[in-house]
Amino acid sequence: MPKQSSNKLSGKSPKKRHKFFLNPYNDCAFTKCPKCDTKTKVRKFPLVIFIESKQLFILNKQCKYCSVCDLIITKKQELEALTAIGMSQSNPHIIGNDYLVMGTVDRKDWKEGSQNALPLPDLIERMYVFKDVWDFDIIPAGWYPNDEK
Ligand SMILES: [Zn+2]
Repeated sequence: MPKQSSNKLSGKSPKKRHKFFLNPYNDCAFTKCPKCDTKTKVRKFPLVIFIESKQLFILNKQCKYCSVCDLIITKKQELEALTAIGMSQSNPHIIGNDYLVMGTVDRKDWKEGSQNALPLPDLIERMYVFKDVWDFDIIPAGWYPNDEK
């Protein structure tokens, strides 16, 4: 067995890709980019979500995407609901914890990871953190009860 150093990641600067906007407005679908007004496309991205205190979760989610800005937009409420479903079996006690959407992985890495073929540290190493997070929102990220419509 090769020995794994615990601070394997610290020496490297992370790879970066895309910008991200977690859309808190449930009634706004952003069919146009809020930054440049270009019509957005619908694309699926495997989003890497870090949930306090130490859970990583990859959610392959349909998002809005502006190719001009390289901006991924996703609805906060949808993301939280899907994450809660994803965690309800394996780790229900962390539902409601603070979380951070950190970046994306390539589709093939997500597939490997979802079949548990890829150990978590490897997945983290293949992750692309967001270049920037555009926050058009002043509410801090957090979970709200699902039944609160
Ligand atoms: Zn744009």
